[in-house]
Amino acid sequence: MFKLRFWPFKSDDCVDCLDVKKMASSYIEQDGDISQEMIDELTLHMDDCQPCGAFVQSLRAAIEGLKDLPKEKAPERLKEELRKLVNSE
Ligand SMILES: [Zn+2]
Repeated sequence: MFKLRFWPFKSDDCVDCLDVKKMASSYIEQDGDISQEMIDELTLHMDDCQPCGAFVQSLRAAIEGLKDLPKEKAPERLKEELRKLVNSE
């Protein structure tokens, strides 16, 4: 399970931009759908990949913004919308 990985190493089990998109909301919320190992790998990827860093940052801002909405039960629904958005390509 724990393999040493040297970047930038292209192989099937390395995270890439698509993984970042797919897992961005789990990554941001660290909601248990994602392992610590994967969080570390995504973080590493984003250090090297500006578009992904920017993508996750704006998604994080959107999610944080939702949390500030007063008394709305929106999060579940909006999370779903965000997932669709993220998975739409
Ligand atoms: Zn990327």
